[in-house]
Parts: sequence; structure tokens; C-alpha cells
Amino acid sequence: MEKLNLDLLAIAAHPDDVELTCGGTLLTMAQLGYKTGILDLTAGEMGTRGTPQIRAREAAKAAKLLRVSWRDTLGVPDSDVQPARQHKLRLAAVIRQLRPKTVILPYWEARHPDHYHASTLGYEGCFLAGLKQLPIAGEAHRPFKILYSISYADVRPTFVVDISAQYEQRRKAILAFASQFRPKKGERTGKVHLAIDRLEAEMNQLARHYGQLIGVQYGEPFLQKELMQVKDVVKMEVRSI
Ligand SMILES: [Zn+2]
Repeated sequence: MEKLNLDLLAIAAHPDDVELTCGGTLLTMAQLGYKTGILDLTAGEMGTRGTPQIRAREAAKAAKLLRVSWRDTLGVPDSDVQPARQHKLRLAAVIRQLRPKTVILPYWEARHPDHYHASTLGYEGCFLAGLKQLPIAGEAHRPFKILYSISYADVRPTFVVDISAQYEQRRKAILAFASQFRPKKGERTGKVHLAIDRLEAEMNQLARHYGQLIGVQYGEPFLQKELMQVKDVVKMEVRSI
């Protein structure tokens, strides 16, 4: 099996979750020359709009906009994401193939069960991938760093990534999921228009909010369980007074 040695891998439950929570960060890292990837746990087949085929096309378009090197679906059933043994083993095999240094997971508390289960499944899959005796293919590998994307969680981030220069491109990547947000011709219901207006307003407001916390225009928030180590306190960013 070919090893991909990704620098950064974002894992989430549904296609478009990654775009909405850390798309700007993925693009920023790709622009810095890092190799990035997205693993959607499900194909989003329970979504009320669009088919899995349409969503797969949209996901590929969004991946291109965010310049990710790799994107695939794990094949867990939508609305039934669980940290079950068989899913963890499949995820661990993918981690061994991709060998990411850093992994972004959804925050572990959420309204949608798929989102919080995705967090646990992601963490445990990454852990198992490092066990040499695991009965799966590939050389043992464990990511060095786990980050949690917390755009939609009510918790204080550990740090915020400045995505001001990437915001417009991230917006395009989110709107690439047109079947979710835009009505088809002859299907123009007020409901969908409202959805896209609200989505635009909400994603702008969230990114502005987190940007303001670090004194830039737009930002994406993350949490890590470990403390941050600082080597040079004179060169720390974000003005205090
Ligand atoms: Zn989702």
C-alpha cells in the first residue's frame, strides 16, 4: 500500500463539515506547502437534499478549492456514526496509509450524535493505528497532534488560526455543496433561500467573532487538550493592550 505521509488530516462526520469548521485552516496549510487531506466518515446519504453522488461531486470540487491532496469517504452509515470496533479498525488502516502528523477532529460535545461520535471514533482510530499488534494491514503509525475544531461549540479555544486571506476561497468551498443550500430550478421554496442566507450570515459572523479575538478579520478556532509550549515569550502574537 502506498504511504501518503500527510502533514494534516481533517476528519469529520459529513461531507461539508470540514469546510464549515476548518476549511480556511486546511487552505492556509496547503498554501504554506503542507500536504493536507480530508476524510469524511459518511457519504452524507441521510441529508434531506441531494444524493450521495451529487454530494461526492460537490466534495471533490470543494477539496480542489481548498487544495487538499487527498479526500475520501470511510463508508460509515450516515446518522449512525458510532465508535464501533469495525469502524475503528477501518479508520486505523486509513491512518496507517495516510500517516498524518496532525489530525483535526470535531469537538467531543455536539447536538448531532454523528458529530460527537465522530470525535470519539476519530480519536480511537488514531490511537489504534499506533498499536503494532493490531490485526490490520500497514505499518503502525500514530499522529503526533490531535486538534479539535470548535467553531460550533460553546467553549474557549486554545488558539485561533488567521484565515482572513483564505476566507473568500473557504466560502466558495462551502457553497460548492450547492445541493444542500441552493434550490434547483422549479424548486424555489422560501425555506432554502432562508437556509443559504442564514448560512452565509452565520459563517461570516462566526469567522469574524474568532478573528476579532486575535485582532484579525477572520479566524477559525481550535482546542487542544495539551498545554501550548512557548520558547520565546518576546515573540508571542496577539496584542494584550
Ligand atoms: Zn455534519
